[in-house]
Amino acid sequence: MMAMPLQSHLFRVSESAFQSAVIDLATRCGWRVFHVSDSRMFVGRGAMIGDPLVRGWPDLVLVGHGHILYRELKADDNYPSKVQRQWITALEENGGDVAVWRPRDWEEIEACLTADRLSTAVRPATG
Ligand SMILES: [Mg+2]
Repeated sequence: MMAMPLQSHLFRVSESAFQSAVIDLATRCGWRVFHVSDSRMFVGRGAMIGDPLVRGWPDLVLVGHGHILYRELKADDNYPSKVQRQWITALEENGGDVAVWRPRDWEEIEACLTADRLSTAVRPATG
């Protein structure tokens, strides 16, 4: 049984600490983890650098065990922005496995990422 690293009921966990914990667990459970930062920055007089298409894309794409998971991470008291909700809806409508994860969901996250549960959900090999 893995120790629970996040005591979110005791103190507020930042999104970046939470993200590190999710990436660590996912990696240890054999997932390939993709993350892209929204690095857009305004650099004076309304000029922006960075890729605007990154805006709203879920924090993590987890690939493995016959699944592709799209996960937006939020601190316990935060909600997805409008653009994030648009991506979540688009992914859902097109068959994506998408969800918002918060520190308080840690038990569910652990269950989702651990191989025990996945072994029954992996698609059978074809051909
Ligand atoms: Mg986020």
